[in-house]
Amino acid sequence: MKAAVIHGPGKITCDNVDDPILKDDRDIILKVTATAICGSDLHIYSGGIPQPRPMVLGHEFMGIVEETGKAVKNLKRGDRVVVPFPIACGHCFFCNHHLPGHCENSNPEHYGPEGGLLTEKGGALFGYTDLYGGYDGGQAQYVRVPYADYGPRLVPDNLSDEQVLFLTDIFPTGYSGIDWGEVKGGETVAIFGAGPVGIMAAKSAWLRGAGRVIIVDTLQYRLDMAKKAANAEGILWEGTKDKEVIEQIRALTGGRGADVCVEAVGFEPDRSLIDRAKAVINLEKGSPKVIEACMSAVRRGGIVSVLGVYPTSYDNFPLGQFFDKGIIMRGGQAPAHKHIDTLLDFVKQGKVQLDDIITHRLPLSKIADGYSMFRKKEDNCVKVVLDPWA
Ligand code: NAD
Ligand code: ZN
Ligand code: ZN
Repeated sequence: MKAAVIHGPGKITCDNVDDPILKDDRDIILKVTATAICGSDLHIYSGGIPQPRPMVLGHEFMGIVEETGKAVKNLKRGDRVVVPFPIACGHCFFCNHHLPGHCENSNPEHYGPEGGLLTEKGGALFGYTDLYGGYDGGQAQYVRVPYADYGPRLVPDNLSDEQVLFLTDIFPTGYSGIDWGEVKGGETVAIFGAGPVGIMAAKSAWLRGAGRVIIVDTLQYRLDMAKKAANAEGILWEGTKDKEVIEQIRALTGGRGADVCVEAVGFEPDRSLIDRAKAVINLEKGSPKVIEACMSAVRRGGIVSVLGVYPTSYDNFPLGQFFDKGIIMRGGQAPAHKHIDTLLDFVKQGKVQLDDIITHRLPLSKIADGYSMFRKKEDNCVKVVLDPWA
């Protein structure tokens, strides 16, 4: 089959590889009909999260069930499904606590990045490096889906692939940022990052009844998309003018700051140093400015939701501000399984549109162009969707 294989930083090619096979009774083999490139894939592509051996990437995909393992009773060949991006067993302590990204059974060998006193086990994603389980991903014609009696969701025929594809990751992820932010109605939400995740967070904020949605980005065309697709008020972060951004948010909130800040940017891979021996990533001394901006822009007692990926510790965390302002901070891999059914209902009811952020549609054979353009933010690129069969 054809699949997008990463061969080291900046090197992704559409290769011919072996078809996946069933390895467990709870597996299915899915024929992928649509797949997308995520900002998280860029962390691997840029080398910020290292992948030492070639691997099929992709955790945003959907398709038609081709083959089912013996224990999969809820699906049959020909069913059309979307697949949430964490690989989760559905039965362990963490799955039972709606934390599928921390499943104990999908990646028993995994130890998270160092930085605390002791690291912990758990967590696997499709096509997301050996650190996250080493499973091949769905930027391919076929993919093996483990625990298929728990993850995949049936989608109705009257909805196109593009209408439901983002239920795999970016919609539940954006929604998690708002859910962690405890948005119930009337709040001012400030989102940092007007990429696909930030825009989905903006759409989710409205769905949860936010009173005002502000979005910050360094690129005007992304703010324009956030305005068009999610009716968010844009603030342009120019160069080193981070203080001006915070002042603008305070000015819009009676000097108090936003009730909720959502971080949807993530670490800057170009500034990372990779310690391959330990498979951990150390940021250069310095500060992920966006986290600091969120801590300053949120009101006292407010909530900061961190959706952007940060793979290690850093030494400039505004602990004093965290304490003095009494900020609540949440983050991590989004619990896609927890929200996907509610969100699918929103799509079915026409309460939200997801495909309006797609700017580029490419055949899988053009995968290298897709990654390069999305990484460099060229050609007003916001979201790339790939057809494995074109
Ligand atoms: P993206 O790269 O398209 O978007 C990031 C946006 O941040 C870009 O528009 C960029 O211009 C903007 N940006 C850069 N510096 C900024 C600054 N100083 N202030 C404001 N905006 C700035 O990626 P994406 O697909 O939207 O993903 C965003 C982040 O979310 C990534 O780190 C990705 O790994 C992460 N992610 C996390 C989860 C999860 O489960 N937590 C799921 C999906 C994606
Ligand atoms: Zn993703
Ligand atoms: Zn589990």
